[in-house]
This record gives sequence, C-alpha cells and structure tokens, in this order.
Amino acid sequence: MDNIKCNAIVLSSKDYKEKDKIITLFSPDRGKFNAVLKSVKIANAKLKFAAQPFCFGEFMLVEHCGMYTVSGCTLVESFYEITTDLNKYYVGGAILEATSAIVLPEQIESGLFIEILKALKNLAYSNINERIILIKFFLNIFSALGYKFSFTKCASCGCNFTVKRFLNLNNGEICCGQCHTYDSIEISPEVHSCFRIINSTEYDRLDSVKINIDVLTLTLKLAKLLFSLKFNYDLHTIKLLAD
Ligand SMILES: [Zn+2]
Repeated sequence: MDNIKCNAIVLSSKDYKEKDKIITLFSPDRGKFNAVLKSVKIANAKLKFAAQPFCFGEFMLVEHCGMYTVSGCTLVESFYEITTDLNKYYVGGAILEATSAIVLPEQIESGLFIEILKALKNLAYSNINERIILIKFFLNIFSALGYKFSFTKCASCGCNFTVKRFLNLNNGEICCGQCHTYDSIEISPEVHSCFRIINSTEYDRLDSVKINIDVLTLTLKLAKLLFSLKFNYDLHTIKLLAD
C-alpha cells in the first residue's frame, strides 16, 4: 500500500455500495482517476465536503492494487457559490464535463488545471457573464491544443475581413469568402467579433464586456460544435445554455 498526497479537483461523484461514494478526481500531476470515499453517506461524515463536485483540495490517498481510497482531505476551495445559481451551476458543470472528456488517466496537464481553476474562480466570485466565462475557457483550451484562431485577418491570404468569414471546423482557422474550404461554415461578423473580444480580454477585465445574449448563445453553440468535432464528445451540460 502506498500513501499519496496530491492537489486535485472533484469532477464528479456517484453512489457506491450502501455508505460509500466514488469520486472522479483531476490532479495536475496524476491526471484523471477514481477514488473511494468510505462511509461518506452516513450523517456527520467528516469528509462529506470532499464528495462534492467542484471541491478543490489536498487529498490524502491510499493506493492498493491500483485502487485509491481517500484517507483525508484539506479543503483549499469549495466553489460553493457556483452551486447557488442555476446559470453558474450549468457553466461549472460544463467545465467539469469538458475536463473529464479531455483528460486521460496518468495524463499530466498542469496548464489545463490552471485554466479550470481560473474559470471556476471567476464563475464563483466575479460579475462576468457566465456564458462569456465558458467561451473564454473553451478558447483557452482550444488554443492550448493547437487551434489557430484568426481574429483580425484571413488565415489563408492575410487580407482584412470584409463581407464574409468562414470558420474551419478542423483547425479553427477563420478565412475570407475567397479562401474558405469545404469543411468550413459561415459565421456572422458579430460571432467573429464575440470570439475576438473574449479571446483578447483577460479575466480581470471581462466583467466590463457586454455582448448580446443571442450572439453569446450562437458563439457558445459553435464552441460546443468545435469541441465535439475535436474530441468526438457531445457536451450534455451545455444544452440548456446553448440550445
Ligand atoms: Zn482569404
């Protein structure tokens, strides 16, 4: 048996046996893995907080034959505020679901871990529109994964955008009407501008950004489509925000 200590965030939690739960954790240096929280369903269980999605803590784990059991947890941040507002809850759920879909066991992803914490912190404590936070989160992870969004000039010929712009669904490049390929879809100037503004604005200044709700919804739909094409995974938790 090995004792392990690691920072991790709870992505999801489900009942297991009569009194236990299995939580899925994402740790920046161990990737995604499951761990058992024993007797956590009994009243006054000491580690109840560690069974909540969004819980970010320092977990003490015991590994035995590839199975992990939580022996202790020091709470760093519960992000409880996210669970008190329906829109925040949906966006937070989409961030956790997207993370779970991307990260593999044993995969070291410290950059993604930092992006998740940034997004959840702003979701819990800032006045930024929830949809803007989710689009920002997607743009940051897409860029980390090699999408080359072109926000000011056509990615192919380098000309300024005039009338039409098309988004290539394979690589995220945005091209003009002359250069677009068959695997692109036309996007409106408003959606293009929405992507550009959110991409170029840091979190600490995003609360002053005001974008029409219909444009935000359309932009979120596109981000969801890009995600499903890239990862072959349809995000369920976005449906209520982007359908
Ligand atoms: Zn062009």
